[in-house]
Amino acid sequence: MTPQVAIRVTVWGEGLEQQAPEANRIYPDGIHEAIAAALRAELGEAALVRTATLDGPEHGLSSEVLEATDVLAWWGHRAHEAVDDAVADRVVQQVLDGMGLLVLHSSHLSKPFLRLMGTRCSLRWRNDAEREVVWTVAPAHAITEGLPPAIVIPEHEMYGEYFDIPPPEELVFISSFSGGEVFRSGCCWTRGKGRVFYFSPGHETFPVYHQPEIKRVLANGVRWARRRSSSTETTSSPNSRAGWYEAQGRSVSEQRWQDDAAAH
Ligand code: ZN
Repeated sequence: MTPQVAIRVTVWGEGLEQQAPEANRIYPDGIHEAIAAALRAELGEAALVRTATLDGPEHGLSSEVLEATDVLAWWGHRAHEAVDDAVADRVVQQVLDGMGLLVLHSSHLSKPFLRLMGTRCSLRWRNDAEREVVWTVAPAHAITEGLPPAIVIPEHEMYGEYFDIPPPEELVFISSFSGGEVFRSGCCWTRGKGRVFYFSPGHETFPVYHQPEIKRVLANGVRWARRRSSSTETTSSPNSRAGWYEAQGRSVSEQRWQDDAAAH
């Protein structure tokens, strides 16, 4: 049996939320470290997980780091505008080239997500510690594997419709709130060769990322979004003369014939 190649995961966070006492009690090392710990626990040797934050050079997201990243998880809230445009563009390009992207909670307004969606990504919200029920609406999807029909988050911030996103290619979760609102809380898209998963639970003043079912969603999301090799050329737009494809096929088979002749 060939050993499975580990999925290389980078968890990016602002690293600012823990400055607020109510978030520091729940996430003393920042949300990015809590998510990284959850992924290490859930995925074990199937993943290599590292973290990066806003204050690092290039926010910890140099070309070298991103090229060695199969899935990038992104959590941001207060400092979307502080993210360098060049870094945001680099993330977008990597997604188009095949890197997976998990966009978490308030990152619906992050620069990479806005650029990949092309819409406002605005939504309705209210932070009143209400019960959220995250309903699975795609029970055969890889992201819902091993999950109950509904995940109950006892206290959370309300995110409600209208959520200004392009229609998801796959809708995985819909949330309902005690105030009556509903929200498309788990959405999947492809962009270029890459896969994008938006998952809304995760406000910093509630222990959402310590909840076992939520950890499972994140791990499933990483497995689903991981970079896949593909032979489809998408990095250029070649001007192709008529018959180029057949001509290419003939040259390949002629080469094979020559190789066979040389072997005999
Ligand atoms: Zn929030």
